[in-house]
Amino acid sequence: MMFEPELEGMSRLELEQLQLERLQATLTRVSRNVPFYCKKFEELGIDPYDFQSLADVHHLPLTTRQDLRDNAPYGLFAVPLREVVRLQTSSGFSEGTTVFGYTLGDIRKWSRLTARVLAAGGVGREDVVHVAHGYGLSTMAFGMHYGAETLGAAVVPVSNGNVRRQVGIILDYRATTLSCIPSYALYLADVMDEMGVNRNVLPLRWGLFGGEVWSEGTRETIQERLKIVATDNYGVSEIMGPGVAGECLERQGMHINEDHFLAEIIDPMTLKPLPPGEIGELVLTTLTKEALPMIRFRTGDLTRLLFEPCACGRTMVRMERIHGRSDDMLIIQGVNVFPERIGAILVETHKAEPDHLIVVDRHGGLDRAMLLVEANMVAPDQIKAQQKFIDLTRQRLAMELGLVFEVKLVERSTIAELQTGPNRVVDRRKF
Ligand code: ZN
Repeated sequence: MMFEPELEGMSRLELEQLQLERLQATLTRVSRNVPFYCKKFEELGIDPYDFQSLADVHHLPLTTRQDLRDNAPYGLFAVPLREVVRLQTSSGFSEGTTVFGYTLGDIRKWSRLTARVLAAGGVGREDVVHVAHGYGLSTMAFGMHYGAETLGAAVVPVSNGNVRRQVGIILDYRATTLSCIPSYALYLADVMDEMGVNRNVLPLRWGLFGGEVWSEGTRETIQERLKIVATDNYGVSEIMGPGVAGECLERQGMHINEDHFLAEIIDPMTLKPLPPGEIGELVLTTLTKEALPMIRFRTGDLTRLLFEPCACGRTMVRMERIHGRSDDMLIIQGVNVFPERIGAILVETHKAEPDHLIVVDRHGGLDRAMLLVEANMVAPDQIKAQQKFIDLTRQRLAMELGLVFEVKLVERSTIAELQTGPNRVVDRRKF
């Protein structure tokens, strides 16, 4: 079910016309009201009154989290504080000085967009939505909360403490929908096991998950353990919060609410736009935000855009689940490699994600890439099957990344010994 069919199903031509008009309005507004952008436009020789084509968007300046910090708390606001009705921040106290503001109009639009995400994930007026995000300064809980109300569903604002009590509330209130971060859903499932809850009497049907990077394997586990349909959704606090994009029931990528946000994919090293379909850093421009408009905000999140039509009828472009952060990117033989992508390729190729480690070193001035995979997960003691695994993995990596990896099966202990940090990369090159 679409929440706003006339908008979510708009033709590409209409959509691009709307985006251009809204971008022009945003550019004039920020050039008048935000000295930071006014100065940037001057430096780059951009006349916001003369911006005529979406194709020129990459000439506009990028905005970073550092820019927000440098101008905290209110330096990037485009309206006076008397028009702001809400202040929030992103999770993580290190960024505590960054403040995101909303006008009443912003809150209304935000609510409609999270309502879209909920509707796309199967939720309707009859549903009872258990919001287990932490209520507070971060945007997740309030974003989903207002969306559910706007949709006409019943919200249970339970927040994220006391899991045993939460399980009781889900059963007592007959909650049909769970909104939280994916790892919390797994935690809930564990506690249900401890409490001996019979899954067949669980009222839950829908799960809307966002706020952290998760895999297709985790989705399958959550769907299986909680007996729900689990969809992914995406938000950026600096841009708005949740409601930027959400999956429909096809579960083949998240539809971006493009009538409110303009999405681009750039190479995080060169900052140049990438051709359609390539993986890179997502850059978002707000098209309707009043209090805190963002021009080409670097999200730091890696994904790719899917332009093929979706079976659900929505015309808005889809983004793949987040592959990781651009800060984690490796450059091997001049090729951008995202460690999370390798995990995803293993899952796509073998329907499982064995423990693995990427080892990069340099030999005779040349980068060498090696992928160590835990042997136990791959047909132990069957030499033929193991060789097949190695060959197939090599081929897929070469095809997907354009890079030759040496693939080796090793003991779990070998991986544990080599691994130096929380991520699956050991970079032995000296720069
Ligand atoms: Zn769809």
